[in-house]
Amino acid sequence: MSVLVFIESADGAIKKSSLEAISFAAAMGQGDVTAIYLGQLESAELQKAGNFGATKVLHVNDERLNKGIIQAYASVLAQALEQSGAKTLVLAKSALGDPVAARVAIKTGASFVSNVTALPDTTSGFKVTRSIYTGKAFATEEMKGDIKILAVKKNAVDLKETGGSAQVEAFSPQLSDSDFGVTITKTEKQEGEVLLPEADIVVSGGRGMKGPENWGMLEELAGELGAATGCSKPVSDIGWRPHHEHVGQTGVKVSPTLYIAVGISGAIQHLAGVNSSKVIVVINKDPEAPFFKAADYGIVGDAFEVVPKLTEAIRAA
Ligand code: FAD
Repeated sequence: MSVLVFIESADGAIKKSSLEAISFAAAMGQGDVTAIYLGQLESAELQKAGNFGATKVLHVNDERLNKGIIQAYASVLAQALEQSGAKTLVLAKSALGDPVAARVAIKTGASFVSNVTALPDTTSGFKVTRSIYTGKAFATEEMKGDIKILAVKKNAVDLKETGGSAQVEAFSPQLSDSDFGVTITKTEKQEGEVLLPEADIVVSGGRGMKGPENWGMLEELAGELGAATGCSKPVSDIGWRPHHEHVGQTGVKVSPTLYIAVGISGAIQHLAGVNSSKVIVVINKDPEAPFFKAADYGIVGDAFEVVPKLTEAIRAA
C-alpha cells in the first residue's frame, strides 16, 4: 500500500500547501508516501519532499507541463495511480488541484472529497471530515470504492519535518495531443507584490483606516513581514483599494499562516474569507468588535498608534 501526493510549486519551490498534503499523507499511516511533480523543477527542491514524509518523488520532467494543463495533469496522475498501485491520492485543495482531482476521479472511478480538514477515520469504513458553508460547519462523509482522492484544506494540518530527503525518480507517462487540447498561451504575474490568494501572511484594512491615504502604514507593515495586503468589501467598493484585494465571502478567500485585521469590524461575510487562517490578529479600537471573537490575539487600540509601533518593533527585531 502506498499513498500518492500530487505536489505543486510556485517561484521554484514546492508550495507550503503541498508540503502540508505530504505531512497529511504520512500521518494517515497507510504505507509509503510517494510525491509526484509535473513539469520542470530542480531535483534538490524535489528532494525536500522527503523532509515532510515522502520517500520518493516521481518527476515528470516535461516542459509542456510547466503550466497547469488540467487535462494533461489528470492523465498523468491517473497513469501514476495505476502504475504505482497506490489506492489513495492526496493533494492540496487549490484552484488547480480541485479540477485536476475531479478529472482523475472520472478517469479512475475514484471517490473524491475536497476541503478535507482532518485525517480520515478508518476504524469502520473510511470517513473524512470536510469544511462546508465557507468554513462555518463540518460534514463527515464516508468514502467508498477502491481508489480515494482527498484534497486537503490549507492549514488543516501542521507541517511535520522528519529530516529525511526523498529519492527523485523519472516518471514517463504517455501523453497524446488530446491531453493538450487546451493550452495556456500566456500567463501574467503581478510583479513586486505578494499575491493575496497564495500569501502566507496578510495585512488587511477596513473602514477604520478612514481613507486610502492611510494605507501606506499597512503597506509598510506588510513590507516588513513579506505579506500581501487585503481589505474589507466596503473599502474596495468605495475605491480606496482595488477589487482584487477584497477579502471575504464575495471576494478572495485566504488561508494564510497569519492574518492581521486592522480597523475591520469582523462581519460574518468577511470572516467567511479568513476563517481558515492559522493565526488571526485583530487591531480595533472597539473592544466589542465581533472580530475579537474570532481572533487568536487582539489589540484594543487606535490603528494609527498601534500599527506604526508594531512595524517599528518588527523592524527592530
Ligand atoms: P465597518 O463595519 O464600518 O467597521 C470598521 C471597524 O473599524 C469598526 O469595528 C471600528 O471599531 C474600527 N475602527 C474605526 N476606527 C478605528 C481606528 N482608528 N483604529 C482601529 N479600529 C478602528 N464584507 C467583506 O469584508 N467581505 C465580503 O466578502 C463581504 N460580502 C458581503 C456580502 C453580502 C451579501 C453582504 C450583505 C455584505 C457583505 N460584506 C462583505 C459587508 C459586511 O457585511 C460588512 O459591512 C463589512 O465587512 C464591514 O467592513 P469594515 O469592517 O471595513 O467596516
